[in-house]
Amino acid sequence: MTFMGLLKKFPEEKDVVDYYVRVRYGNIVVCPHCGSIKVYQRNSNVKVFDCGDCHNTFSPFTSTIFEKSSTDLRKWMFAIHIFLNGKKGISGLQL
Ligand SMILES: [Zn+2]
Repeated sequence: MTFMGLLKKFPEEKDVVDYYVRVRYGNIVVCPHCGSIKVYQRNSNVKVFDCGDCHNTFSPFTSTIFEKSSTDLRKWMFAIHIFLNGKKGISGLQL
């Protein structure tokens, strides 16, 4: 897959977040604070969810390598794709 192919599959960063959430949680995101399923994804920051019951915020990326990254998740996805599919691997500098 090329980077342009990845951009076709994930035109916006929100598409990557939605894909990640589907893989990690299935179709139901659960608030880690109270266990409620009444959660809403923010429009202003798609990486943050708000709980409708306890009013806490959380990120589905907590405790992952993406937690404090401000890099677009599409770039991360492509980097992971290159790293996993390279026959001889790839150095950090080359990446
Ligand atoms: Zn909650």
